[in-house]
Amino acid sequence: MVIKEIIKKTMRKEKTILHSEKYLNSIVANVPDVIYRLDKDSNITFINDAVKKYGYTAEELINKNILDFVHPEDREKAICKINERRTRDRSTKALEVRLLTKNRTAVPFEVKSNVVRTSKRLLISAEGIYNSKQPVTDTFIGTQGIARDISERIKVEEEKRNLEVQLFQVQKMESIGRLAGAIAHDFNNTLTSILGYAELLYMQAKDSKEVDIQMLKVIINSSEKAVDLTKQLLNFTRANKGNLITLNINDVIKEVIEVSGKIFEKTIKVKYDFEENTSPIIADKNQMDQVLTNLIINAKDAMPVSGEIIFKTENVKNNEYLIKKYPEFNNGNYVKISVSDNGTGMPDEVKNHIFEPFFTTKGEGKGTGLGLASVYAIIKNHNGYIDCISEEGAGTTFVIYLPASEKQVVSEEIETKVFIKGRETIFVIDDEDSVRALIANQLQALGYNVLTAQNGKEAIQRYKNGFNKIDLVALDMILPEMEGRQIYQELKKINPAIRVLLMSGFSKDGKVSEILKDGIKGFIQKPFKIHELSRAVYDTINR
Ligand code: ADP
Ligand code: MG
Repeated sequence: MVIKEIIKKTMRKEKTILHSEKYLNSIVANVPDVIYRLDKDSNITFINDAVKKYGYTAEELINKNILDFVHPEDREKAICKINERRTRDRSTKALEVRLLTKNRTAVPFEVKSNVVRTSKRLLISAEGIYNSKQPVTDTFIGTQGIARDISERIKVEEEKRNLEVQLFQVQKMESIGRLAGAIAHDFNNTLTSILGYAELLYMQAKDSKEVDIQMLKVIINSSEKAVDLTKQLLNFTRANKGNLITLNINDVIKEVIEVSGKIFEKTIKVKYDFEENTSPIIADKNQMDQVLTNLIINAKDAMPVSGEIIFKTENVKNNEYLIKKYPEFNNGNYVKISVSDNGTGMPDEVKNHIFEPFFTTKGEGKGTGLGLASVYAIIKNHNGYIDCISEEGAGTTFVIYLPASEKQVVSEEIETKVFIKGRETIFVIDDEDSVRALIANQLQALGYNVLTAQNGKEAIQRYKNGFNKIDLVALDMILPEMEGRQIYQELKKINPAIRVLLMSGFSKDGKVSEILKDGIKGFIQKPFKIHELSRAVYDTINR
């Protein structure tokens, strides 16, 4: 009876075991993860049907060595892990390894495994004495584990990393840009007085025999170069959009090729391939000249002996590649400009830094590292995109996208260098002593009567006392204590018919455009040349 009971009980137990084993088997068969068991030599003794997804059947893998399915570069790592398993049951970390599919493509997996051992306790000692305290001896018979396909996770992580790198790059450019822009702004004031006085001296000394005019010309030329450099730096400030007009980029390219062609050796050919009806763009002409010139000079530098530079333009619309690459890409019409050379090209270490200010691979005194940084800043300020495709030894292509415009291109007004003279009285308000004195001198040289003030308080006081004799106020924008805008508002209360010419190192947008909306009639960007000042003064008085 007792025995019967025992047998019954055991059978019941076995039934449940059988039942749960079946249940377990169906789970193992259906999970998407690969579940396996290896013998002590890493041969597969069991594997589930998840391998079908990778081109195998479970049967064909039985008795094969797992290492044959590990990517060759990851084999050492896998062997290390297997050896570690022999000595330690619990591993610290899952193993990331690439496994090969039937058609030998590598798929990344995360493998979590544990050791299978048989444990025996020898109850009879060597001496034949019964001893239940005898230690357990383990035999390593293999491993078992789960391998999870992590290709999707890795893809997502990579995309995230790329976005982070891009964001970091943009932030870095912005902060360096802000710094460079701020320096340039102060530098501008200094240059305004150097260039201005040199020009004044030149005007006075033109016919004199005692002054060496050549030396003065060198000062003027060098200062003009410094002005160009400062303008490049000012491009880094977001505020500087320049003087926006409707342009046909093909015309601008042709002009730049013509000008730069003169300084190139004959062994360098410059060609263009334009889409006939390239849409117009809205841009600052000088800045576009700068972009194209910088690119053409770099291309030339990359071709020390001979080579070919090709400019290409085309209209693009709803470009899928761009929308994917730049999520904020406005799904509209763009003009694509590419500049290709068959020069040295560059390795990735160089390519990753080319848009940073002061990054150059050219020796001391040869490169400034400002070329591409200004190109980048200008294109960004024009709501465009720039890309660089380059490989060492295989040439370089810069691709620029600028928003297309619906407007028609109007021909440019040609500015001539004339000094317009006048006899009116002009009130100059500027905090920098050298700049204020210079402008006063320049205006006097043009025939004007000049009064000055160095801050808001003094300006308001003097204006109150004599505004009816003043025809024009030349007002600086940034002064300590009271800014140009405030001074203007105070002066306007005294004389609602006031005429003001605003002077600023920033160009005519951002902060400046706000002030201009308040009713100021004229604007001139510092540093300026005398003929530009004379034109601005004349226009503001006679408008
Ligand atoms: P710079 O010309 O003064 O060195 P840039 O900002 O114009 O500064 O260019 C930065 C660097 O990018 C260059 O020093 C050069 O290494 C690399 N580079 C730019 N354009 C090209 C090109 N077309 N081919 C090969 N390398 C280039
Ligand atoms: Mg350059």
